[in-house]
Amino acid sequence: MELTVTKNATCTFCGCVCDDIELHSDGERIKETKGACILGQSWFKNHTAERLYPAALVNGREATVDEAVEAAAEFLHAADMPLVYGLSNVTCEATREAVSLAELVGAVIDSHTSL
Ligand code: SF4
Repeated sequence: MELTVTKNATCTFCGCVCDDIELHSDGERIKETKGACILGQSWFKNHTAERLYPAALVNGREATVDEAVEAAAEFLHAADMPLVYGLSNVTCEATREAVSLAELVGAVIDSHTSL
């Protein structure tokens, strides 16, 4: 099978945001990475286009994204000290939205790097 080559791909795994990675993929999996460190290689090669998980979980049960958003809004509304946490492996746009949400609900915001 012929592999698709994507040049100048960006790795968002650790925060260095290397943007000169070359990826070779078969449409479902990345088979080869050039220029990525061992962490980046692992990150790229272990993500797949296959849908292995449901779009969302609410209380451990499969849910639609709309149901998950509604549940998250209810949790945030009921929280005394809301925390917006995580944000690893997300885009700048997603981080911007998370910061806006934190400001809207008066939340503390933190990322996994505080560990
Ligand atoms: S390739 Fe390695 S150093 Fe670069 S962003 Fe990915 S994990 Fe970080």
